[in-house]
Amino acid sequence: MAKIISIANQKGGVGKTTTAVNLSSCLAYKGKKVLVIDIDPQGNTTSGLGVDKKNIDLSIYDVLINDVDIKNTMVDTAIEGLKLCPSNIQLAGAEVELVSMMSRETRLKLSISSIVPHFDYIIIDCPPSLGLLTLNSLTASNTILVPIQCEYYALEGLSQLMNTVKLVQKHLNNKLDVEGVVLTMFDARTNLSIQVVEEVKKYFKNKVYRTIIPRNVRLSEAPSFGLPIILYDPKSKGAECYLELAEEVIEYTEEMSKL
Ligand code: ADP
Ligand code: MG
Repeated sequence: MAKIISIANQKGGVGKTTTAVNLSSCLAYKGKKVLVIDIDPQGNTTSGLGVDKKNIDLSIYDVLINDVDIKNTMVDTAIEGLKLCPSNIQLAGAEVELVSMMSRETRLKLSISSIVPHFDYIIIDCPPSLGLLTLNSLTASNTILVPIQCEYYALEGLSQLMNTVKLVQKHLNNKLDVEGVVLTMFDARTNLSIQVVEEVKKYFKNKVYRTIIPRNVRLSEAPSFGLPIILYDPKSKGAECYLELAEEVIEYTEEMSKL
């Protein structure tokens, strides 16, 4: 059975998509069978994995709104073992269309249930909001992984995010757990980055990954080539760190499955 992980934080630009693309690629690179679901209308995970947003036949929109089988939307990527369920701007309408639909918060959960046994990990890249798309993702997931950027106001909005997690646990998915917090865009030369790491560790304690993702220009270049970092520049610091993060995720998953 796949472990389903939502990459979520309602703040934009914190590294959700970079983490979704590169964590899922590194998990597949390590031999895991992985599906990444792009549930952000911006479709940056889709284009970041080399799929042209303008030429998508079927997308996650069709799964959520038109009852299309998710299997019919899946496309292969340049990484063996990594499949993608793509998204594009059409999904922006879904946030409103879902409001009046039956079981509006559980549509993603229902639509992926038949494929869960076929993967080791399903990674969902959420949009920068706490609307129905993110709620669908959290309802379908085993865990939430929160990227936090080492910048001013890093902790802003996190209590609201954790409140949403509690509400989902109470009403929609009592199994939802916090996978962990990953610090992103760390710059060792600034005191600010170091302070943010300390503050986040105080707040999230043992839920913070040992691996901290540095600010790395190769990570920001890779999406324009439609490649994950592990293919774009496997020797870069960014590739090294996302591989380490994947190892931590696998380690934690295996520990938990023994309990
Ligand atoms: P989100 O999905 O949370 O909006 P993104 O992953 O798209 O955030 O990241 C926002 C921007 O920062 C993108 O341009 C991305 O390429 C860049 N970026 C993300 N992580 C890093 C990093 N570790 N080093 C350098 N640039 C990064
Ligand atoms: Mg994004």
